[in-house]
Amino acid sequence: MKTFIVDAMLGKLATWLRLTGHDTFYSSKLHDDDLLRIALEQNRVLLTSDAILSRRAEDADVEVMLVRGTVDEEVASVFLEFGISPEADPSKSRCTKCNGELTHIRNGEKSRVEGLVRSQTFNHYTEFWICEYCKSVFFQGGQWTNIEAYMHRIRQLMKELES
Ligand SMILES: [Zn+2]
Repeated sequence: MKTFIVDAMLGKLATWLRLTGHDTFYSSKLHDDDLLRIALEQNRVLLTSDAILSRRAEDADVEVMLVRGTVDEEVASVFLEFGISPEADPSKSRCTKCNGELTHIRNGEKSRVEGLVRSQTFNHYTEFWICEYCKSVFFQGGQWTNIEAYMHRIRQLMKELES
């Protein structure tokens, strides 16, 4: 599976790549030189909306894609280019905040997330996912419905781009 590094302008794209399980390096503070160095060192595909940086990446033998359009078009075109299925699955997803790997917390182990989420949330849900790195906790709450709706929209857009 490809791993990615995205430039500071493409934070939303980074989130969607992580949600679909892709190891994605993102920091809003990196300079172009850092992006190129990390891409080379870690063999990551650089995704950028900057034509000059894209040219520099090609010259440095970094695999690069110049990403253009609205956020939705960015996501759809990258998914299309790299054969990524627009399905967010929490068992494959990486932490949207830090790119860490998530551990599935089932009902019997719920006490592990007690105090890390609001008590209402803790009582209501039976399954959680915890980032082992930054300790963020995820669950399939209301925002999950939005994620699925968005993935549906991206699937439609991918079909349009393909034709
Ligand atoms: Zn994390």
